[in-house]
Amino acid sequence: MGIVEAGTFGGLSGGSALKVLIADDNSVSRLLLDRLLSKWGYEVIQANDGAKAWEILQTEDPPRLVILDWMMPGMSGPEVCREARKRVAYAYAYILLVTSKEDKQDVIQGLEAGADDYLTKPFFPEELRARIRVGLRILELEDKLVASTDVLQYKATHDELTGLLNRASIADFLRRELERAKRQDGVCGVILADLDHFKSVNDTLGHGAGDSVLREAAQRLTAGVRGYDAVGRYGGEEFLVVLPGCDATSLRQRAENILEGFRSRPFAAGESTIPVKVSLGAACTSSWSTPVLESIVRAADRALYRAKHNGRDRVELAEISETAEVESSTVVEPSTTVEPSPTVVT
Ligand code: GH3
Ligand code: MG
Ligand code: MG
Repeated sequence: MGIVEAGTFGGLSGGSALKVLIADDNSVSRLLLDRLLSKWGYEVIQANDGAKAWEILQTEDPPRLVILDWMMPGMSGPEVCREARKRVAYAYAYILLVTSKEDKQDVIQGLEAGADDYLTKPFFPEELRARIRVGLRILELEDKLVASTDVLQYKATHDELTGLLNRASIADFLRRELERAKRQDGVCGVILADLDHFKSVNDTLGHGAGDSVLREAAQRLTAGVRGYDAVGRYGGEEFLVVLPGCDATSLRQRAENILEGFRSRPFAAGESTIPVKVSLGAACTSSWSTPVLESIVRAADRALYRAKHNGRDRVELAEISETAEVESSTVVEPSTTVEPSPTVVT
């Protein structure tokens, strides 16, 4: 391997040589390109026609840098470009068309097909090298943009303190699961969890210790459910757990599991430890004719109120009478942003 030019852009290749696809039906041109690129430190993948190039671009971890000859049997360079650009869900590939065509109309056609740049044959090796560097810069920028979009997306959907889904995201998750349950004639359970006497943690040990308790509560809640369940921070010290496919019996088991997780050992709170308990209100869609988010969360909320009223550190399941009452009083909003009323705990 020669000087690892691609190493300058290690972020793109994870530190190893960056893969470059060269597609050309002329074996002499391929060999020339291969020699140059290998000398510059790239890992070369060859295709001897357009169809083969397209096949390689559809693999799991395709090359991000592509040098395509214009005229090739099977698929031409511009045709490969057009197909590649349809795959929007995949990491962007930088495509350089190499052509002996110099006519401006051809160049326009190539760029409109989705090529990022072009080079006319015969070319100076140093010009190719410089244009590849331009491609690498574009790919680096693209990756940074994707990464920062991912960060923004994460921040918009997660609670900063606990790392759980935030209120809007857990509500979205529940809405989707209720739709799925309806479509597939399945069930879905929800649990509203509210820490017991949490205010006294803040009052006696300070807000910082209170924050640590909230973080640990989030972990214990997550540990108490299955991988395909979702836990969200619904309010200050209140959490919503959504359990797809969970009938009333399993729902009670899950809730008991969560209670046990809290009872098993005290929580770290600053320098000391402190016992923290939780009250749970649970509701299952199996007792509803048409479960909607607003009504099922309200039923869980009422059950939670009973759990608090009956001495805390326990689970209460929504009763059929509560379910029917909530159901008949629920006005189903056509909007998808229906937010349930906040828990009223006295
Ligand atoms: P109950 O058993 O009835 O639920 O009593 P409680 O003390 O848990 O409930 P209450 O609603 O009276 O108090 C909740 C407290 O949670 C009050 C609020 O200051 C605190 N809180 C809400 N969000 C946060 C947070 O992000 N960090 C900390 N440290 N405290 C929070
Ligand atoms: Mg509360
Ligand atoms: Mg509370």
